[in-house]
Amino acid sequence: MSAVEVLVVGAGTTGLALALQAHSHGAGVRVVEKRPEPFRPSRALILHPRTLEVLRPLGVTEALLDLADTAPTADLHLGSHIVTAGLGDLELPDTAFPHLSLVRQTDVESVLTRALAGRGVVVERGVELVSVRDEGRMARAVLRSADGGIEEVRSPFVVGCDGPASTVRACAGAGWHGRPYTEEAVLADIDFGGSHGVEGAQVFAGRDGLLFLFPLGEQAPWRLLATRASADRAGRDFGQPGPPVPRAELQRLVDDAGLGAHIEHLVWSARVPLQCRLARRFRKGRLFLAGDAAHTYSPATGQGMNAGIQDAVNLGWKLAFAVDRQEPRTGVLLDSYDGERRPAARGRMLLTHTAFWAEASTGRIPSWARAVAAPLAAPVLPTVLDRRRLVAEAVRLISQLRVNYRRSPLSVDGTPRLRGAPRPGDRLPDATVSTGGPPRRLHGLLARPGVHLLLQRDADMPVDVVSPRVTVLRLTNSPGRGLLAVRPDGHVGFRCGGADAAALSGWLSLVAVAAAD
Ligand SMILES: Cc1cc2nc3c(=O)[nH]c(=O)nc-3n(C[C@H](O)[C@H](O)[C@H](O)COP(=O)(O)OP(=O)(O)OC[C@H]3O[C@@H](n4cnc5c(N)ncnc54)[C@H](O)[C@@H]3O)c2cc1C
Repeated sequence: MSAVEVLVVGAGTTGLALALQAHSHGAGVRVVEKRPEPFRPSRALILHPRTLEVLRPLGVTEALLDLADTAPTADLHLGSHIVTAGLGDLELPDTAFPHLSLVRQTDVESVLTRALAGRGVVVERGVELVSVRDEGRMARAVLRSADGGIEEVRSPFVVGCDGPASTVRACAGAGWHGRPYTEEAVLADIDFGGSHGVEGAQVFAGRDGLLFLFPLGEQAPWRLLATRASADRAGRDFGQPGPPVPRAELQRLVDDAGLGAHIEHLVWSARVPLQCRLARRFRKGRLFLAGDAAHTYSPATGQGMNAGIQDAVNLGWKLAFAVDRQEPRTGVLLDSYDGERRPAARGRMLLTHTAFWAEASTGRIPSWARAVAAPLAAPVLPTVLDRRRLVAEAVRLISQLRVNYRRSPLSVDGTPRLRGAPRPGDRLPDATVSTGGPPRRLHGLLARPGVHLLLQRDADMPVDVVSPRVTVLRLTNSPGRGLLAVRPDGHVGFRCGGADAAALSGWLSLVAVAAAD
C-alpha cells in the first residue's frame, strides 16, 4: 500500500488548482484522473477577476492572461437593435484585473497542468478512484489503472474534485440536493464560411432563450451556446457533452436568432443536460468535496469553473498546513472549509438560478421579457451601459468579489480593534501601498504562497514568527500601530489595532502556524 499527504481525485480545473495550492503550501500531492486524455472540447469560456487574483500567488496568472481576451465585447441583439457592451477596462479600481476574460477551459487546464509538472507533479491519467473510506486515522482509497491494476493508497486527506457524478461524494454519503433543469444547453463549433460581418461575442435574445456566439471555437471559428427546452430526460450525464445535435436543428436556432448566416461547416455539437445541486456537506472526516462535485449550476453568468478554483484555493492551504498536525488541533481549520464555501455556493446558486430563469426559461414572463420588453428597452440600454459604475458593480457581483467569510471562526478581531475596512473574513482589496520605496499594488507584493502579516507604519511585531509559512511586510504609508494577517487565499484572517500578542498567537495556531514555529 502506498501513501500520500493529499490525494486529489479528478484533473479538471478544480483538481489541478487544488493540487497546485496544496503543493505550493508544502503538501505532497497525487492527482489521479480517470480520463486517459484531457477533456475536450471546452465548456467554460468566462474567467472572473477574483479567479485571476486567487491564482496569482501560484504564478500562473500571466500565462492565463497570455491566452485570454481581456477586453472582450459583446453585441447584444435585441429585436432589430444591436447594443455593444464592453467588458474590459471596467471601473474596478481595487483589482489588478478589472475585466472579464474569455479563455477556453482547456487552456486553463493546460496552464495549471504545466505549472504542476514544473513542480514535479504529473497528473496520473487513466487512473480511476473506485472507492474511498475514512478509517479514522487515515483514509484508504482504491485506485484502478487503465490496465486493470489495483492500488491501495493511504492518505490523511482525499479531495473529490471528480465532477457532478463524484465517487468521493457517494462514498462519503454527503447528499446531493437540487433538481435537473427542464432546459438543456446546446454547444457547437461552427464555421459560417467567411465573415458574416460581426466581431466579438454575439448574444441574441429570443422568445425561446438566448443564443451566444463566441469567437473561441476549438476547431472552427465560432462556439455556439444556446439553451432550449430539453427533449428527453432519461439517463442524463449532467454537465457533460452528450449526443450531437443535427445540423438542421442548429441552423434553425441560428435562423430563429435572426443572424441570417448559413452554417457551412459543423465540426462537432453536443446536448448538455443541466442541473442545479448542492452537496449537504463539503467535508466528512478525511474526505472533502470541491468544484462540481460539491455544487453544480447552470452556465448562466459563468460560475462553475471559477467557483471550483476558488474552493480549491480555500482548501489547498488548509490541508497542507494541517497535514502534519493531529486532530483536534486542526479541527476548526478543516471545518472552516465547509463553513466558508458552502454559504458562498448557496448564494451563487440563487444568482445562477435567477439568471438562468431570465436567460432560458420558456415561461410566459421571461419569454415576454426577452422577446418584447428587451427590444423596447434597447434604445435606453447604451445610456445604462455608459454608466461604467453600474456595469462594474454587476461584474463585481457575478465575479464573487464580494464574497466574505466574516462568520468564519478563522476571522478574528484582536484588541484594540483596528477601525476601518477590511474586516476579518473580507477579501483584501488591491490597494496602492508603500513599503519604503515607490507606491506599489498590494496584491503584487503578496503574490507568493503563505500567510502575510501586514504591519502599519509604527506597529511592533507582537510575536516572534519564524515560520517559512509567514512573510511580514511593513506598510510605511499607513500610519498607526495595527496589523492585518492575510490568509493564503487573500482573505483577511486577523485584524488588530495594537500589539495583541495573545490574540495573534491564537490566530496563528488556529491556522496551524505556530508562533516561533
Ligand atoms: C455549457 C457550459 C458552459 C459553461 N461555462 C462556464 C463558464 O463560462 N465559466 C465557468 O466558470 N464555468 C462554466 N461552466 C461550468 C464548468 O465547465 C464546470 O463547473 C467545471 O468544469 C467544473 O470543474 P471541475 O474540475 O470541478 O469538474 P470537471 O471539469 O467535471 O472535472 C472532473 C474530473 O474528474 C474526473 N473523474 C470523475 N470521476 C473520477 C474518478 N472516480 N476517478 C478519477 N477521476 C475522476 C473526470 O474525468 C473529470 O476530468 C460551464 C458548463 C457548461 C456545461
